[in-house]
Amino acid sequence: MNTIISGATLFDGTGRAPIENGVLVMEGSRIAAVGSAAEIARPAEAAVIDAEGMVVIPGLIDAHIHLELHGMADTYQENLVEDKLRTLRAAKEMETTLRSGFTAVRNVGSANGIDFAVKAGIAEGYTKGPRIITSGKIITMTCSGTDYFAGMYRVADGVDECRKAAREQLRDGADCLKVMATGAVMNPGGVPGAPQLGVNEMRAVVEEGLKLGKHTAAHAHGAKGIANAVKAGCRTIEHGTMADSDAIKAMADAGAYLVPTMCLHGIFEAHADQVPSFMVEKSRAMQGRHVEIVAEALAAGVKLAIGTDAGTNYNYHGQNFQEIMYVVTAGLMSPADALVTATKHTAEAIQLGDSIGTLEVGKRADAVVLDGDPLADITILGDPERIAMVFKGGRRQF
Ligand SMILES: [Zn+2]
Repeated sequence: MNTIISGATLFDGTGRAPIENGVLVMEGSRIAAVGSAAEIARPAEAAVIDAEGMVVIPGLIDAHIHLELHGMADTYQENLVEDKLRTLRAAKEMETTLRSGFTAVRNVGSANGIDFAVKAGIAEGYTKGPRIITSGKIITMTCSGTDYFAGMYRVADGVDECRKAAREQLRDGADCLKVMATGAVMNPGGVPGAPQLGVNEMRAVVEEGLKLGKHTAAHAHGAKGIANAVKAGCRTIEHGTMADSDAIKAMADAGAYLVPTMCLHGIFEAHADQVPSFMVEKSRAMQGRHVEIVAEALAAGVKLAIGTDAGTNYNYHGQNFQEIMYVVTAGLMSPADALVTATKHTAEAIQLGDSIGTLEVGKRADAVVLDGDPLADITILGDPERIAMVFKGGRRQF
């Protein structure tokens, strides 16, 4: 089945200027042709969608979510919801995420295999959702606070245990791995600036992933932990809140991606009377220089990927556009650069750069048709009325 989207402006995600009066030809699950109406030969048999006045962009990508968390005021309350119910809830959340124009997500830490179940449910067609790259449980050293997220952490100490923990996640179906290189804001007693797993421990995890061609993401706030994670070979650094110039240089030299999840900043503050005070206090102490640090990282050549930490307190699935808006409103990027980051670069960060992230011939046909121009007004990404159509693998989803 061929589908043609005709007459729209095409923003292909490669960094090139938009194509006016464009034509996107989808053949089966892939893009068969893309360009201006004058230069594209249309297949004779095709369903044609007239999208004059619309803008087509590649499907958006979020590199950092937790699909079984529900944005509850205190994440501890998630533990009180039974796993089967959480699985159904997560499936619904992924449908909402896809509806909002996000056709791929990387899930970096879920409890009790809920991520694998939801991913399988989408693959088998029981429910709609984005492409999901998922890590299984988060590999962490013995430390305080892990019980706060029951079933989400795999505690491992020493190289051998870390290796085994990685193998367990891969056995269960993980597409990537996730390690704790520093303490966390959201764990009681966690010290975000303090390093946790050592270089050799994380390297064992990275090695096990790479045997299967899979990458490792590192939760890392403090500078020492970031440097450790980069040295161990982690592909993406999550948060990076307290990076110093050495940590930034290490990321740039290694080609590691930074997923700064900055849209979290205002959330705890806005709900300070509901969110547990230890989380509010820690985030207050840390986020002051984060935008400045990310600006330094960009200037040093560090590659950025878009991630929201969706599912955490008041940080709802389907609101994933928030991070794209944040990088624009904070003055870090133009709308065009933010869109390339949320598509091409984020696809590359999660190892899907060969198959998605841009509207190019041969790639999977993941695309969003917008009623409005995001380059003129990036906030339209947050308006469900303006997300006119969503395609995943050449099939219209919404
Ligand atoms: Zn997270």
